[in-house]
Amino acid sequence: MSDTNSSDFVQSFYWESLPLRGARCRVDGVFQRVLRDVQLPHSVRQLLGEIMVGLALLSSTQKHFERLILQAQSGGNLQLLVAEFLTGGGMRAYARWRGDDESVDLATLPEALLALTVDMGLDRDRYQGLIQLRQTLTQSLEAYFLESVQAPAYFRLMVDAEQGIAGGYFLQRLPGVLTTEEWNTATGFLAVGSDRSLLLAQPEQFLPEIFPNVGVRLRAPEPLQFQCSCSRERVERMLIALGETEVEETLATEGSIQVTCEYCQTVYRLDASEVAALFAAGKALH
Ligand SMILES: [Zn+2]
Repeated sequence: MSDTNSSDFVQSFYWESLPLRGARCRVDGVFQRVLRDVQLPHSVRQLLGEIMVGLALLSSTQKHFERLILQAQSGGNLQLLVAEFLTGGGMRAYARWRGDDESVDLATLPEALLALTVDMGLDRDRYQGLIQLRQTLTQSLEAYFLESVQAPAYFRLMVDAEQGIAGGYFLQRLPGVLTTEEWNTATGFLAVGSDRSLLLAQPEQFLPEIFPNVGVRLRAPEPLQFQCSCSRERVERMLIALGETEVEETLATEGSIQVTCEYCQTVYRLDASEVAALFAAGKALH
């Protein structure tokens, strides 16, 4: 299912004679939909927004993919934070969190990792870049670029979970001659000011101010929307993969099989006769 919110977008830009590119995004609509039916501590809601903004910005650097998955995981109270981006701009995300301590300190989470998976689609490769999670998601994304892409990057993730605002800016240094001073000028330009002022600023007006003598080109914004790929068919396939014995055991104790999609909270229910039909159909195929 998908919800459209025409205000969500990712837009990339580049300088004509400098090895420097970037992107900006707003994912308020997707963020609000992701938060709509879930109960999560404020710090986790904030992180969910950040990982979605980070992924939307990252998508501008990937040409060939069917699905991008950015996830942070740990052995601590924040077990999983995951965002997905599909070609066409569909996005979804969720967090799995446990414990009584409502604050999440990324720096002290045990076995904390950040991974970007690029899924090229059916029958093709899938590759993953993995790094240790840093103190913040911003630092982690910048470290990901240095370690996995061998290119410096700058991220500014601007999220207000209370207001349902999520947006950001990103810069990437490309191979070629760009002085440290030029890099510092560009990143310094995006680092100043309040989140609100930067989110409201018109990029056509302020990006050319960074290097007044170099042309900057903005590509057309690509619309983004909430999209979940769950379906009854996928749930049935998952149950078949689990095996008849295990599903029958759950059925015996629970009375029915109930599977809730962690991304969109859609509930899929199968009663005893539907479960029987499912495994009968599976057997007929063999
Ligand atoms: Zn779903």
